[in-house]
Amino acid sequence: MNHSSPLDPQTSAALLQALHTLLGDAGLLQGGDLSAYELDWRKRYVGRALAVARPATTEQVAGVVRLCAAHGVSLVPQGGNTGLVGGSTPDASGRQILLSLSRMNQVRAIDEANLTMTVDAGCILQAVQEAAAQQGLLFPLSLAAEGSCTIGGNLASNAGGTQVLRYGNARDLCLGLEVVTASGEIWDGLSGLRKDNTGYDLRHLIIGSEGTLAIITAATLKLYPKPVAQMTALATCDSLDAALQLLMLARVQTGSGLTAFEVMNEFSLGLVRRHFPQLQQPLPAAAWTVLLELSDAESEAHARGLFEGLLEAALEAGLITDAAVAESLPQSRGLWHLRESIPLAQGLEGLNIKHDIALPVSAIPAFVASTDAALALAFPGIRMVDFGHLGDGNLHYNVQAPEDMAAADFLARHEPAINRIVYDAVTALGGSISAEHGIGQLKRADLAERKSPVALGLMRAIKQALDPQALLNPGRVIS
Ligand code: FAD
Ligand code: ZN
Repeated sequence: MNHSSPLDPQTSAALLQALHTLLGDAGLLQGGDLSAYELDWRKRYVGRALAVARPATTEQVAGVVRLCAAHGVSLVPQGGNTGLVGGSTPDASGRQILLSLSRMNQVRAIDEANLTMTVDAGCILQAVQEAAAQQGLLFPLSLAAEGSCTIGGNLASNAGGTQVLRYGNARDLCLGLEVVTASGEIWDGLSGLRKDNTGYDLRHLIIGSEGTLAIITAATLKLYPKPVAQMTALATCDSLDAALQLLMLARVQTGSGLTAFEVMNEFSLGLVRRHFPQLQQPLPAAAWTVLLELSDAESEAHARGLFEGLLEAALEAGLITDAAVAESLPQSRGLWHLRESIPLAQGLEGLNIKHDIALPVSAIPAFVASTDAALALAFPGIRMVDFGHLGDGNLHYNVQAPEDMAAADFLARHEPAINRIVYDAVTALGGSISAEHGIGQLKRADLAERKSPVALGLMRAIKQALDPQALLNPGRVIS
């Protein structure tokens, strides 16, 4: 299919007419301000859609795909449009249909005994968490975009977030999928089975495929008993190595109770102080601040005891310089709010370069020390926003332009060289250039350069087999 030439007016009118007949007024947006769908969250990619299709049922999704296939028009699936790699916005050709799942937002069923819930793909993550909580259960996936991202988007990008340490990423929380294939067929794979070895695992193939292999229309998700108590603390460390030792100690002393272990460098929290001065920072500035969360099946007193024991031992061992345990739920939320405000503060500070890297946890302190130094040498004045999920070996290793330089100029001139320094260091240590945000369009060239040719060949073969017309999110992940 030729994706770059303009669509001839007859084809486009016929497709739009057929889509309107299928979806009605509420289901098809044409013309007007479509920027909420066409501009990505980081404002790095602006596209133009032929129209926005907003089906309300799985059958309608299948109908949209069949119509697009018949007219040779490709589709870009979109959930909450909070993705960070330019995967969910249309290209600039004006000939793609943006397929928004946002009207498919019903909780279909909760099975308390099986600890599962089945939801439409367009359900907002926070609504899913709340529906589980209403039954006294926990759906643990949690990330700063949870008020607007959708389960379909979370699964399509295999999102990570802040609870991976204990519960795994989106993939680990999904037991079944309902999808529409590129030929417009519906596969109902909504099993709530924890064991099922009947051939290739299609669910795991589609999870993380970023809308390039199938459209996710519903999912069966794993639930957990809700912890009796959840407690959060901050601690400061002189070095990332000390933070790593604190992580090891916390694992020994608190076992599976440790649900989050996040680190933030001083510049990250400094940006939060500058752009959100109303947010209280309870500890004095330090090279590194750690946010720890414990979840406890016994009681709040038990969790507090564990925390106090851990932090006292860490102080005595010289691993931390200071600590504060949240006294209440609002205080706990306040600590999380600090951590989650870093990407927003960074956005307010100006355009920036994001790296979402994974490494063996043990390699992270040395990686940061040597890569910070290499970048500072090559680009004097560069500002490092280093934060993320140390417990998972996943850092958001982000770069802000020197304060006295126009960010857009700096990025235009130096982004490729900066990426090379960072990704060469990651590759040398056996890491990944995308831990949780995916590839989209942003990292497609980097993936092509750095993934093994054998793996890339297998990926292309899968894409060709499942979507031979290149209808689903073409130009994303692999070419
Ligand atoms: P979208 O952005 O709409 O789409 C993402 C990708 O999935 C696109 O390629 C799209 O085509 C595809 N897609 C969407 N829906 C479907 C569907 N139903 N079927 C098939 N394909 C589909 N991510 C993390 O992993 N961890 C974090 O901690 C984290 N924090 C974030 C914090 C902020 C403030 C923001 C803005 C984003 C953050 N993200 C994080 C990025 C994260 O990937 C997204 O927030 C979320 O998972 C994407 O969901 P969405 O519904 O917005 O998907
Ligand atoms: Zn993250």
